Amino acid sequence: MPNQTIKRDVVILGSGPAGLTAAIYTARASLKPLLIDAPADAEKQTTPGGQLMITTDVENYPGFGHGIQGPDLMAEFRAQAERFGTEFMETWITEVDLSERPFQLYTETDQTISTQTLIIATGASAKWLGIPGEAKVPAGFGGNGVSACATCDGPLPAFRNKTLVVVGGGDTAMEEATFLTRYAAKVYVIHRRDKLRASKIMQEKAFRNEKIEFIWNTTVEEIVGTPEEGVTGVRLLNTETGEEQVFPCAGVFVAIGHKPNTDLFKGLLEMDEVGYLKTSGHSTATNIPGVFACGDVQDSVYRQAVTAAGTGCMSAIDAERYLDHLPVAMPSGEEITIEGEHITPDHKAIITPDGHMVPNESEA
Ligand SMILES: Cc1cc2nc3c(=O)[nH]c(=O)nc-3n(C[C@H](O)[C@H](O)[C@H](O)COP(=O)(O)OP(=O)(O)OC[C@H]3O[C@@H](n4cnc5c(N)ncnc54)[C@H](O)[C@@H]3O)c2cc1C
Repeated sequence: MPNQTIKRDVVILGSGPAGLTAAIYTARASLKPLLIDAPADAEKQTTPGGQLMITTDVENYPGFGHGIQGPDLMAEFRAQAERFGTEFMETWITEVDLSERPFQLYTETDQTISTQTLIIATGASAKWLGIPGEAKVPAGFGGNGVSACATCDGPLPAFRNKTLVVVGGGDTAMEEATFLTRYAAKVYVIHRRDKLRASKIMQEKAFRNEKIEFIWNTTVEEIVGTPEEGVTGVRLLNTETGEEQVFPCAGVFVAIGHKPNTDLFKGLLEMDEVGYLKTSGHSTATNIPGVFACGDVQDSVYRQAVTAAGTGCMSAIDAERYLDHLPVAMPSGEEITIEGEHITPDHKAIITPDGHMVPNESEA
């Protein structure tokens, strides 16, 4: 069968809060976006609708004063993107060619997608322990006492004034444990080694906090509970003595890091050492003009639905500007247009595509 090429001005990868917000904005701007999402895959942790599909109560998304279930919120996002004409496609992109525009995205089938701009919103996946009891309800207690996000779930009534467990020994674990002490009666940090990986300042903050205690040289082997009560404890193994115990707690926060979904772009786009895409401080531009990134895939700090949606809106406006021949700020500090003109970071000169430098003077 001959190869079929689909041509677009805007292609968005990922249908979490960032991708769907970018879709709403670019669809309303009549850019007819094509949103491509990976199929649901438990191992690769991809879910159409993104991370909020695996949670229950979302209490901090503005506009829903009484809270909303994660999947219901994402159904609202999707309906809004559909209403303005976003086209959806579910497939794996196997390879991308970003060496020149239009960019080429190759799929598992005979379809190739060719696009003038690409908005990457593939999110990040929390790393999990892979132990019994950790999976999402009903297979385990995920969403019923097990979480990977203290900011998101810590304030829920189920965790208030209770004993909670945080698993991990890095900065994320210290931050999550410290945050949880606002609500919990006590927070136990379970760490498999006898010292932490976290930075000194984060360690000291945690050590000073009277509500935090550490359980060293210990791994969590299983999360136990009942469907009615949720989590009631964790089965711990002391790796030095071999001793096992069931430690009672009402919640488990797994804080062993996140993995941004950027494998497809390795060697093509600038990333930090963990794999988060680097974007300009002033826009969502990556180092390749016409490629933008939004949401958790470029944000290792805030990782919230509202910030993902916010940067999704920024990506859409950046892509619109770029397609409208307006300059977009690059990570290097310069600005660039779709024609390949570079405006220097001090805004004093324009370097034309053929390498000439001209003063950046207004006609007035
Ligand atoms: C259990 C849990 C509870 C949470 N609770 C809250 C909360 O209460 N409030 C809050 O603000 N935040 C919460 N968060 C955080 C919030 O879900 C994320 O910050 C937000 O979903 C990030 O949005 P995103 O669009 O950047 O990425 P994601 O939501 O991660 O979406 C990424 C999308 O990209 C797709 N994808 C991945 N790889 C590929 C690929 N190679 N090709 C194509 N598509 C791909 C995925 O299938 C998915 O559709 C929670 C997170 C978790 C895990």
